[in-house]
Amino acid sequence: MNPREYQKNKDKKTDMKKPNGYLLHEGITTSGAPFVAIATMHSNNAKTGDMVQIWFILRDVHPVQAVKDGLDASTICSGCPFASGNGCYVTTAHAPLAIWKAFHRGNYPTLNPSGYRAAFGGRKIRFGAYGNPSLMPLAMVRAIAKVSAGWTGYFHDWRENPLAAQYAEFFMASTETESSRAQAEGLGFRYFHASPVKPENARECLSETHGIACAECKLCAGLAKSAQPSIWINPHGSGTAKALAVALARETNRL
Ligand code: SF4
Repeated sequence: MNPREYQKNKDKKTDMKKPNGYLLHEGITTSGAPFVAIATMHSNNAKTGDMVQIWFILRDVHPVQAVKDGLDASTICSGCPFASGNGCYVTTAHAPLAIWKAFHRGNYPTLNPSGYRAAFGGRKIRFGAYGNPSLMPLAMVRAIAKVSAGWTGYFHDWRENPLAAQYAEFFMASTETESSRAQAEGLGFRYFHASPVKPENARECLSETHGIACAECKLCAGLAKSAQPSIWINPHGSGTAKALAVALARETNRL
């Protein structure tokens, strides 16, 4: 083998050893839409820090089209008022589209539970970089969390999901209005409240107050951090105006 071929082979082997992402799960939403759960292994997201990011994406629909057609709201983003272009901070034309395309090119090998320790051991996990992490079977959430060095997660379907209490052991209930916040609190869940108004007992997100990344903070881990208060953030960023208008409308309608 000449040196060039050797190097090419070596690079290939290194790539095979360390894929930049994995297919974790293929499932069907309650409304009957096939979706995939994909873990990408590194991130340069300044707010989260370098965490494994887990994405929930409709398998058969272009992610940008899904938002345009409002399919996200009834499937992977069920329960989120910011879906379908109503203020969500995720730009589906960026990471979700790139991941969806890479999935269809066959770039993500399937990772079985026996490989979780090697892939996720000692890593910090962000369940739900896009979509509801409550789409992932609980046993899978438990197994990944167990080998990890901590995690964050937020789910929007905590009102309608019959397993919400179990998912709340791991994830924060996402809330945007005082009535939804009070409801989540009444259920005994820790919540992550996005609103201009700070709830009395919540703590402001540490990335806002101390400039630290989620990978270091890890407070948003549901009831696994039950001794900690719930979290509040005053939304800002490109979709803020729309997000706040949606929150206000929901508040007015007492949703
Ligand atoms: S409170 Fe901590 S874990 Fe939660 S969003 Fe803020 S920085 Fe991230």
